[in-house]
Amino acid sequence: MHMNQKHWLNFIDGKWCDSDDTFEVLNPATNYPTGTIAKASISDAVMALAAARRCADSRVLSSARPAERVTWMNRIAQEIRAIAEEGAKVLCAENGKTLAEARDEFVEAARYFEYYGGMADKIEGVSIPLGNGYMDFTVYDPMGVSLQIVPWNFPVSICARALAPALAAGNAVVVKSPELSPLGMCVLFEAIERAGLPDGAVNLLCGSGREVGSYLAARQEVDQIVFTGSVVTGQTILKLAAENATPCVMELGGKSAAVVFPDADLDQLMASVRMGIFFNAGQVCSAMSRLVVHRSVYESVVSRVEDLAQGLSVGGGIDGNDLTPVISARQLSQIQQMCQRAQEEGAVLVTGGEAASNSQGNFLLPTVFRDVRPDMTIAQQEVFGPVLVIIPFDDEPEAIAIANGTNFGLVAGVFTQDLNRAMRCARLLRSGQVFVNEWYAGGIEVPFGGVGLSGYGRERGQEALYSYVRTKNVAIKVAGE
Ligand code: NAD
Repeated sequence: MHMNQKHWLNFIDGKWCDSDDTFEVLNPATNYPTGTIAKASISDAVMALAAARRCADSRVLSSARPAERVTWMNRIAQEIRAIAEEGAKVLCAENGKTLAEARDEFVEAARYFEYYGGMADKIEGVSIPLGNGYMDFTVYDPMGVSLQIVPWNFPVSICARALAPALAAGNAVVVKSPELSPLGMCVLFEAIERAGLPDGAVNLLCGSGREVGSYLAARQEVDQIVFTGSVVTGQTILKLAAENATPCVMELGGKSAAVVFPDADLDQLMASVRMGIFFNAGQVCSAMSRLVVHRSVYESVVSRVEDLAQGLSVGGGIDGNDLTPVISARQLSQIQQMCQRAQEEGAVLVTGGEAASNSQGNFLLPTVFRDVRPDMTIAQQEVFGPVLVIIPFDDEPEAIAIANGTNFGLVAGVFTQDLNRAMRCARLLRSGQVFVNEWYAGGIEVPFGGVGLSGYGRERGQEALYSYVRTKNVAIKVAGE
């Protein structure tokens, strides 16, 4: 370990714990080590799960006055805001994103605690009339122990997205952080620790997914699994969960399409392309990875996208570049292989398609393909990198068929000035969310999740809170009525 590199620990039962083994975490902008973290073992997982179980069974969170949970949540939010700068530096150095984007993750994390803190004293059941002689009501009980498995692309904000509603509803939580980018989450947990939750309420393990992740997913003591990650891993977890009928929320991948009609405002569209596919180096589950463009504006869109892509500065996030590295050398080489295959299948490369030559880091040049057919591999499979495919269409039904023509369905977009057309398309697009005239319109207040291989269940918004509770009905016979 380098002199000024920090060694990070796991957080189990209210204590920071070392382990015999370590993971080395690399900076994707340089491929130099940025720190090490204790690699959680199965026995660490056993301890974390037991601690969460004890906390859930003690009902210390769920029986507290709701106002007390609100106070905890607000305190956590304040502590997160206080460490946002420090946390951003750590996240930037392990993940490659810009400092501003890393800071935004912490601010968004704080927002989740404020938002769900605002609901922690409003989790109310209903009373159901059954006629004379009966009283009936429902209560929302917490699930108990929530297992939350987090990916590396937005580790801090995705962690908070599930942790905040789980705590607001009175659950205890075991979080499994991603091997490639676990350090920012340690800073997040340092902030949460300062808010003074009971021991065992939150636990953080950085262990191997295959070993510790699958061990946890198979345990009967887990009352719920919230998984965000790839389809293949999600399917593995679902099989493990089936054994105990453990309920799951699955936030998986995507191959989301923006449909561009002839009357689209192309300046607005370009701002959305910039964010949609090049933000976070395209490593966003809801990235705009397909642009489905009416043939009458196809050439002008292709040429504007080409100019946009070639105008982006490529380099480390710490220097505030536009296009930051992908997470690992392995990921970079997989993306390059997908670009190679796209050309073999007949897609025409407009720009990019190869790694930046002058860097030790994992930089793919911003990449655009044109003349892509909807059935090509590059138009069907998630790339998870800064790679955009542009597909032409002739009429609205064809555009909808192309947009809906993958196994995924996370988000979709429509670019048009025609409100009727936008409304029609929004109804017909098969996805959990539809953006009109701005990719990533919305925020933490609106529900987010997929259909098809993009998963099921919803995160964000008020609706998501109800993934973290179960309904109990109490039916009473009243004597003498
Ligand atoms: P991944 O599936 O490789 O890993 C996700 C997490 O699962 C990691 O913590 C990993 O350690 C763990 N894991 C791996 N194997 C496991 C197993 N057998 N049992 C239990 N846990 C296991 O995904 P990734 O590469 O970290 O993230 C990229 C993927 O995540 C992309 O497909 C992306 O679309 C998806 N994603 C989805 C959303 C969403 O909200 N829908 C958000 C971000 C990322």
